[in-house]
Amino acid sequence: MTLVIDAHTHILSLAADAEFTAEYGREGSLCIYRSMGLLPSHREPTEHEWDDCGFSRKGFPVIGPEESLRDHPGFDKIVILAVSPQFLDGELIGTVDSFGITGVEGESHPERCNEYIGAIARAQPERFIGFASVNPLYRGVRKAVEELELAVTRYGCTGVKLYPMYQHWRPDDRELAFPIYDAARSMGIPVMIHQAGSTRIDARMEYGRPALLDDVGREFRDLRVIIAHCGIPWIEEAMFMLTKHPNFYADLSYHIATISREDLYRYLLRAEPFFVPLEKLFFGTDYPGFLYDPVALRTKLMTVNEDAERLGTPPIAQAKLDGIMGGNFAAVLGLE
Ligand SMILES: [Zn+2]
Repeated sequence: MTLVIDAHTHILSLAADAEFTAEYGREGSLCIYRSMGLLPSHREPTEHEWDDCGFSRKGFPVIGPEESLRDHPGFDKIVILAVSPQFLDGELIGTVDSFGITGVEGESHPERCNEYIGAIARAQPERFIGFASVNPLYRGVRKAVEELELAVTRYGCTGVKLYPMYQHWRPDDRELAFPIYDAARSMGIPVMIHQAGSTRIDARMEYGRPALLDDVGREFRDLRVIIAHCGIPWIEEAMFMLTKHPNFYADLSYHIATISREDLYRYLLRAEPFFVPLEKLFFGTDYPGFLYDPVALRTKLMTVNEDAERLGTPPIAQAKLDGIMGGNFAAVLGLE
């Protein structure tokens, strides 16, 4: 039996201020609601219209480990990704535990994001895999490396997630970024990196391209790099990075939610002729984001061969689908 793993999820809150978190979520989701016809496209939605969509300022659901497990029935393991501190519009954001869910003592602060993620992973190591996060522009790269070392050696994180395009640094910057990859390599942990677009207005698309990881792959040949979201909207570019660099992988989160099941099937069918082994892909959702229901997305992946049958084209081997569903990630992280 191969493991069933969601390789890309978030947990807890993104900012201490619930109202700011709601605003932030609204900004990133506006296009989704509009594209579904749930919000007007040519003017700002009213407060009432937002409420009707479920994006109320009050009562934004808090996701702790219990809620995450509840929403992942049938999953063996869930990767929880920290968000490192950054200033956005004057507000400090990053993973916080505003409700004291993790048992980490002291005032809740984004600087402690890795403590929160590590505490959840340590409390249920058979269910949660904690990825730390560091931002070299927050307190400098030396502090970021120290923090990453603490996250792994003391807090119990077993990977790191990086967000260059949100935090406005180049992922191939030799001074700002390379020391982080170097630390990850020497500790033997994988690096997941948001080399993809974002619907956040403040995010810098020019730092999001998957090809910016080429120097990283050339310099750090044994570092395991996971390109988040299949590099959307640079899907082909990300695929090419996977074919070029032996230790590069990609997770399906976000991308999988934006395409039909048939297009998902076609994406998988095209991978191997493009010289990308399907063993390099990991199932992921970006839960608890809107439309990122783990059960529905798992079903979407596991039933792609219904489209193959309907179209009269070759199916994706069941063993390969099982691998994407968790076996591949487990193998790369040495979980099996
Ligand atoms: Zn994410």
